[in-house]
Amino acid sequence: MPRDPVLRGPGPGELSPDSEEGVSSGASAEGEDVGFDVDDGQLDESLRPQTLDDVVGQSKVVERLRIVLEAARRRGDPLSHLLLDGPPGIGKTTLATVLPRELGVDVQITSGPSLSAPKDLLPYLTNASRGSVLFIDEIHRLPPTVEEFLYPAMEDFRIDITLGEGLNARTINMTLEPFTLIGATTRSGMLTAPLRDRFVNREHLDFYGIEDVTEIVRRNAKRLKARLETGAAVAIARRSRGVPRKANNLLRWIRDFADAGGHTAITDELADAALKMLEVDELGLDSLDRKYLQTLACVFGGGPAGMQAIAHSMNTAGETIEDEVEPFLLRVGFVQRTPRGRMITAAALTHLNLTLDGEPDESQRQLFK
Ligand code: ADP
Repeated sequence: MPRDPVLRGPGPGELSPDSEEGVSSGASAEGEDVGFDVDDGQLDESLRPQTLDDVVGQSKVVERLRIVLEAARRRGDPLSHLLLDGPPGIGKTTLATVLPRELGVDVQITSGPSLSAPKDLLPYLTNASRGSVLFIDEIHRLPPTVEEFLYPAMEDFRIDITLGEGLNARTINMTLEPFTLIGATTRSGMLTAPLRDRFVNREHLDFYGIEDVTEIVRRNAKRLKARLETGAAVAIARRSRGVPRKANNLLRWIRDFADAGGHTAITDELADAALKMLEVDELGLDSLDRKYLQTLACVFGGGPAGMQAIAHSMNTAGETIEDEVEPFLLRVGFVQRTPRGRMITAAALTHLNLTLDGEPDESQRQLFK
């Protein structure tokens, strides 16, 4: 069946900062929902950098990407397959959409969990034009059958389709246009070696420093037409845990707070009041993080305790704890992962003014209401 072109990637010069052209949530073959989850929706989209020059920080990664881009441009070849890994909200989708824009090629977007069988991937592969980009988010969640289907497509731009069953089964080989696969994952360790090895370029995106996040906040405040004092931008950056998406969310909250109160500018004091109301402390710990530490300290006597046991006590999904809570607490040294389970550290107890044997002291009681 003939299919509409998915996305026409405009050249870099044709982009306006808020343009969303050139990016779509994927090729919906027969009108079905292919389900790419742009979790922060519209806002995230409009704040997403559109060119490599707009990308703040990650300078070494950007430098290397500039080189592969330039080489591909000069040779007129498609970009080599690229794997981006790093925590959520750190810029993987941003880079995956900026690169095709820079090259002026089409991009199709999908995600691992929405590709449950090879037939789900087929339309994307047959629809890929020469040099175009196929972006698969959460690629570590591809089922093995889809992953195996992808191998020859990545390596030889060919797919093997089996028709019929049993004795009558036939395999048809189909040639594809050379395309670029960009995979993004938050858990590169879960990727199988054969898939990982088929990515010629692999880049790891790390947490951002305060200065880079401050710059991102400053730029995004301008895009949102919010007047933000420097101290407020720094306060947001400090609480963002080095994650641009978290910074965007805090900025959005502070802007709402200011607009609701009829304020035209976001002063340092206003930002401070808004952040206090959100219960995000000066290290970026939110109420869920504090609940985790309090549970570990007060219910499990500081540990060691299994992650699932803590999750059950908190009445929270284990995945949420593992993906959203623990990485940061481990990074700031508030929790240790030992073979016998999680243990709280002295630094965490000091930060929260907690004792191991009992309740938080009076000044902290407010936090755990
Ligand atoms: P991921 O795909 O890793 O979850 P995204 O690429 O969706 O993260 O990034 C979330 C948001 O954070 C983007 O919409 C953008 O506003 C901001 N952002 C991320 N990385 C950068 C960057 N390097 N420079 C500027 N903004 C960024």
